[in-house]
Amino acid sequence: MKTGIFGGSFNPVHKGHIHLAESVRDELGLDRIFLVPSGISPHRSSAEYASAEDRLEMLRLACKGKRGLEVCDFEVKSSRISYTIYTIEHFRQSFPDDELFLLAGSDMLLSFDQWYRYRDILANAVLAVVSREDGDSVILAEKAEKLSEFGQIIVCKAPPVMVSSTKIRKKIAKNEDWSCYLDENVVQYIRLKGLYGRDEVSF
Ligand code: ATP
Repeated sequence: MKTGIFGGSFNPVHKGHIHLAESVRDELGLDRIFLVPSGISPHRSSAEYASAEDRLEMLRLACKGKRGLEVCDFEVKSSRISYTIYTIEHFRQSFPDDELFLLAGSDMLLSFDQWYRYRDILANAVLAVVSREDGDSVILAEKAEKLSEFGQIIVCKAPPVMVSSTKIRKKIAKNEDWSCYLDENVVQYIRLKGLYGRDEVSF
């Protein structure tokens, strides 16, 4: 079976994430993709974080009815820092016969050689990347080529969908329109729970 692993803070999950997952699923013929929200991120402070439960629930809502997309709570349940190699090792043990794919946006490819044990990651999974920015195909191809001695990197053809969780959180805090970037059930959830600086009274 071809199994994808797609990690991130998903704070909140948005249409760019789902676009990435569905593009890789369709271009590379993946059978299933596990979306794995991070627990303790090695890169971020916890100040602007929605809780693990809320991020998991938003992911479940966004993945509902989407073929092959599943949510995995492995990282949020772990007491260790969310290094990707630990998650890859967990999936390698759980599904020893599967072909594993690690899904990521192009920003992650550009910094990939600074990731903890990135060579081990590439030894265990194909890295499947989707662009986040127009006109970055040359630089992505160069980076993929440099890393290819350690494993396989595939840059997918899907065009970028330029949205980020940071942009959405800022828009929510400034009371600007943000609903178009998210699944409508996620929009309702954020409103109901008053996440990211909004309270339900003002909606
Ligand atoms: P933030 O703005 O808080 O940093 P983010 O929007 O970058 O969040 P993350 O949850 O940090 O989202 O990203 C998880 C993964 O999804 C990363 O591999 C990232 O590159 C990828 N990703 C995020 N947004 C997009 C997008 N619009 N298109 C393609 N990939 C994306």
